[in-house]
Amino acid sequence: MSRVGGDPRAGVTVRAPGKVNLTLSVGPRRPDGYHELTTVFLAVGLHDVVRIAPAARLTVTVRGPGAADIPAGDGNLAARAVRLIARAAGVEPAVAVHIDKRIPVAGGMAGGSADAAAALVGCDALWGLGLPREDLRLLAAELGSDVGFPLYGGVALGTGRGELLTPLETSGAGVFHWVFAVSPHGLATPAVFQEYDRLRRTRPADGERVAAERVAAVTDALDSGDAALLAAAVKDANDLQEAALSLRPELADTLRLGPEHGALAGLVSGSGPTCAFLTESAHAAATLATALSATDRYRDVLVAVGPTGGCSAVPD
Ligand code: ATP
Repeated sequence: MSRVGGDPRAGVTVRAPGKVNLTLSVGPRRPDGYHELTTVFLAVGLHDVVRIAPAARLTVTVRGPGAADIPAGDGNLAARAVRLIARAAGVEPAVAVHIDKRIPVAGGMAGGSADAAAALVGCDALWGLGLPREDLRLLAAELGSDVGFPLYGGVALGTGRGELLTPLETSGAGVFHWVFAVSPHGLATPAVFQEYDRLRRTRPADGERVAAERVAAVTDALDSGDAALLAAAVKDANDLQEAALSLRPELADTLRLGPEHGALAGLVSGSGPTCAFLTESAHAAATLATALSATDRYRDVLVAVGPTGGCSAVPD
């Protein structure tokens, strides 16, 4: 049996990162209803903290901003993850999961997916399964398109419906400084895809070429470690942004506000409505966060660096 160090029988704690999509190119809708995606995921240092401890039966409790909007118990994605890995390992899913939310709920930053990934990593450690990350990724793909990425963190190319991951090794020393403006109300990802379909009755024939060019530009910029280059590469590189703005026109004001207060670039994170701003330094990020907070328009304004690492379990 492999252990993560220490004795995890008392419980393990996993920090699970949020993500922002540096590019998000939406391809045709597949027969299974999902769209073919080409996306570059970047893990950012906004973490949910997920504690998993042995218990008489599976329970999930949630604390933090937006906790009231998240199903506790069986409907929670983390509970589904526990059941899945328990079934695969042939053990009882007898754990208490406690989630401290920090990743905005329904914010386009894959918080629920991060919690599910954390539950897989936490149960693997607690039960001493020692499953390779690739095995966990296969389980993750059964739970949702975005569940695999937080297992690895860093930067990765996502294809398929986002669940096929290729780590992008970027040589640059680049850690980038981000600010996130969290909207008071979330957006449901399926609604954003529906709006995307409504707006784009026909798809451009050169979609694949554009997707590849976006990935190349972002990869080069990450390699260079140059925030201004990355800002240029992420501009207009999220195909879901137009749909998110159509459903939430006020996001256009937010995207304008960022550069007025020093942001190098602003983008809708994934399906939104969180807006992510890239800045040139920790100081610039703090200045922007102060300016955005002063408007009183946002549920939260958060500062984080990225890329950051994936889920890892620490015994209590
Ligand atoms: P994505 O970017 O992956 O599309 P998102 O970041 O927009 O997702 P999430 O915060 O992951 O949105 O939550 C989407 C929905 O999933 C929520 O409205 C919530 O009801 C449900 N959900 C289930 N489990 C969780 C969880 N552990 N954390 C957050 N939401 C959860």
